[in-house]
Amino acid sequence: LVARLGSDEFAVLADTGDADALATLAQRIVEALRQPYDVGGRRCEIGASIGIALHGVDSQEADRLLQHADLALARAKADGRGTFRFYDARLDDELQRRRRLSAELRDALATNALALHFQPLMDAGSGRIVGYEALARWPHPERGWVPPATFIALAEQTGLIEDLGVWVLRAACREAARWPAPLTVAVNLSPAQFRRDGAIAEFVSVALRESGLAPERLELEITESLLMARTEPVLRALRELRGLGVSIAMDDFGTGYSSLAHLWRFPLDRVKLDREFTQSLADDAKVGVIVGSVVSMAHALGMSVTAEGVETEAQRQALAAHGCDVLQGFLLGRPAPPDRLPHQNQDEALV
Ligand code: C2E
Ligand code: CA
Ligand code: CA
Repeated sequence: LVARLGSDEFAVLADTGDADALATLAQRIVEALRQPYDVGGRRCEIGASIGIALHGVDSQEADRLLQHADLALARAKADGRGTFRFYDARLDDELQRRRRLSAELRDALATNALALHFQPLMDAGSGRIVGYEALARWPHPERGWVPPATFIALAEQTGLIEDLGVWVLRAACREAARWPAPLTVAVNLSPAQFRRDGAIAEFVSVALRESGLAPERLELEITESLLMARTEPVLRALRELRGLGVSIAMDDFGTGYSSLAHLWRFPLDRVKLDREFTQSLADDAKVGVIVGSVVSMAHALGMSVTAEGVETEAQRQALAAHGCDVLQGFLLGRPAPPDRLPHQNQDEALV
């Protein structure tokens, strides 16, 4: 028995309480839906995630059962999608914990309790600092520093990312406007910030106007996941941003869904090679070949290349030799609060 729950959600009622049989069934559904379809000559791929709750075990009531299945579904999606999960009472605890954390995050944002740290970006040739990447920080009163990977994902799931993103943009531009030109600031954008057409360009233009920062000193970092869906509106938004005079960098390039098509179909000024490349450089000569090739390709397309995650002198030298323009990593400077940024010493040293 199948019932439709939402535009892309269905309830399937199975007449068995045998967990093994249900697991097999779920796996078969996932496999079947994973097969590509031919739609008018175009290859289409979809996927499915499944959450399973057992009547009589997890709950007797239909509503509770659906809620439980929904929690299990959220877990299946969080575990990478295209899979199934059984409801587990611990999921409820986790949901409570996440609800609390997201309320606290909303609060932190409202009370200006988030912080921005800045990590230096260094010219590979001269070793001079050319700018900073702004990285959001949440000093939590009880938990200490919550990693951005945790709270950014939470903000994305709860819709808080738009406000958080605006806060980051404004704070980053305000701070950068106090640095000597031409130091730049890079701000990370999450795909969720592109959901409303026209919104992101408006937020960026307000942040620039408010701070007085010259647009060419602002760089926006996007990830390839943004380019995977809604190609046309995203392309439009990127052109609008470029029209404001800011530049666009492709973050974490070379992992995940990397596609060479992204490099020519989207208006990009910079490629940021994922730190996985930097880390594997010493282990495998093939990695150097890839880095060198990405650099030549990017340069030929008029883009610059930043290498991330530089932790050793050997990596720094190898990346510079491969032609990377800018380097970033703990070797060159850790993210630091705005009153402790290294360019201050650099400029003193020059005077
Ligand atoms: P990312 O954009 O790839 O940022 C670089 C991350 O690498 C930062 O982690 C930085 O501290 C870390 N890192 C820098 N140098 C090194 C190194 O030499 N070795 C190693 N192992 N790591 C290094 P962080 O600050 O924890 O940020 C994690 C991710 O959170 C960021 O990855 C970014 O995707 C996201 N994020 C942070 N701030 C924001 C924000 O304001 N908005 C959005 N949308 N995402 C953000
Ligand atoms: Ca980044
Ligand atoms: Ca990155």
